[in-house]
Amino acid sequence: MLRDPAAGDPAGHPAEGGEEAAPVVKTESVVAAESEESALAAPAAPAPSPEPHDAASPVLVARSRAAPSARDPVIAGLDWAGLAEAVSGCEACGLCEGRRNTVFGTGPRPAPWMLVGEAPGHHEDLSGEPFVGDAGRLLDQMLLAIGVDRPSEAFIANVMKCRPPANRDPVPDEVARCEPYLLRQVELLRPRLIVVLGRFAAQSLLRTDATVGSLRGRVHAYRAAGRDVPMVVTYHPAYLLRNLPDKAKAWADLRLARRTFDTVE
Ligand code: SF4
Repeated sequence: MLRDPAAGDPAGHPAEGGEEAAPVVKTESVVAAESEESALAAPAAPAPSPEPHDAASPVLVARSRAAPSARDPVIAGLDWAGLAEAVSGCEACGLCEGRRNTVFGTGPRPAPWMLVGEAPGHHEDLSGEPFVGDAGRLLDQMLLAIGVDRPSEAFIANVMKCRPPANRDPVPDEVARCEPYLLRQVELLRPRLIVVLGRFAAQSLLRTDATVGSLRGRVHAYRAAGRDVPMVVTYHPAYLLRNLPDKAKAWADLRLARRTFDTVE
């Protein structure tokens, strides 16, 4: 849970930024699955009970494609146990110096759904688990609202496996050194869809400085194991806790994710 110290709240929750920055992601074709109008008409918050999705929704043809920048040949050859061991002892960047625990991720394997956040915050660093506390509970509710049972269906991970000091944004070199772990996780988990949570994760995976507001509402793709994994961007749960009006947009994003998930093999 990263934040811009100048813009987020004192709890270390992320600021998603406004809508002002122009997207730099190249889009071949885009199907906007949710208009802003329909998003605003959605419930103010995801309901905690499963929501039937629209089976008649069109198949979504994406794409803004992102290829991982860093593929480490050693990491690319690791199995799951080896990968977890490598992360737990990793000293590839300076973030190892201040961490209490690495945060590898949690969930089933293989995982039909994968959610990728930013980096461990204070509580995650202490517990070694991603998305604990209020943000984690909201994430559970968001998933349940689209009929996803987090423990059995969703693997939760972060781009960064170690907490940056004072919850600052990781620098590009740190991201480049850590992303091979995430890429290998995607290869081994083989998710049908990735939901990207928050500005930093979206910008890192899509190689852009665009805002969440400009990246959401369409399907992107993450290249892993020789295939394009559909990827939907939405707001970080910690941000949503502080910005209630954007819950409606997150709800629209999750419905897009659900429909997209149901259309892919
Ligand atoms: S953040 Fe990633 S690359 Fe840096 S030490 Fe931790 S696991 Fe290694």
